[in-house]
Amino acid sequence: MSDVTLTLSGLTKTYLSGTPGEVQVLRGADLELRAGEAVALVAPSGAGKSTLLHIAGLLDTPDMGEVEIAGQAATGKGDRTRTAIRRRDVGFVYQFHHLLPEFTALENIVLPQLANGISDKAAQERAMQLLDRVGVAGRAGHRPAALSGGEQQRVAFCRALANQPRVLLADEPTGNLDPETADQVFTALMALVRDDGLSALIATHNLELAARMDRVLRLEGGLLKPVE
Ligand code: ADP
Repeated sequence: MSDVTLTLSGLTKTYLSGTPGEVQVLRGADLELRAGEAVALVAPSGAGKSTLLHIAGLLDTPDMGEVEIAGQAATGKGDRTRTAIRRRDVGFVYQFHHLLPEFTALENIVLPQLANGISDKAAQERAMQLLDRVGVAGRAGHRPAALSGGEQQRVAFCRALANQPRVLLADEPTGNLDPETADQVFTALMALVRDDGLSALIATHNLELAARMDRVLRLEGGLLKPVE
């Protein structure tokens, strides 16, 4: 069986936006991500990193090209199938945590599991294990507002991994944190990725963090190119 978990083939995307007219963000981007591989995505702001991650995570559709996740082609599929693939196999992390403010850290990790049909007991156990792995089990009963920025992101990682996805997509996951916290939080994220044999595509402006991943890709002129 192939160990490729995410394939992007010939992705193109153009936005039609006021002046100066169209913005051709992707012009045939290709990527193969293997199980257990962490890949950094670097590029200046506006180059199209978020667009690429949203298309890879089935939150947006390309104009042309194909996305395959864990062996399942998503191109041309209806919303229900795309949502099912995303829920089962993709975890997403953003620059800002996007946790639900009225729920505790634990509940934020339990809820997506309940939505996937997991029992409450099993969901709570998995949530506690994840919180423990990223060093915030002691904060399980706190709401996001009572957590530090670094703790909020650690909980957001746990939520992204709640349903044991094959692919983790992260859009500047440490971009809001001071350098020392960013370093610690990134270390926690990489431990999760490594221990679970996940594939990760992580957009970052931080070249030091990028260098700690297996490969670095630059999004340039709408194409993905390896960085030496
Ligand atoms: P990055 O994540 O690298 O900063 P984005 O993917 O957010 O880049 O944006 C790439 C380009 O596409 C930018 O020029 C942005 O203004 C434009 N863009 C992104 N989303 C839209 C949209 N929904 N409508 C019009 N233009 C967009």
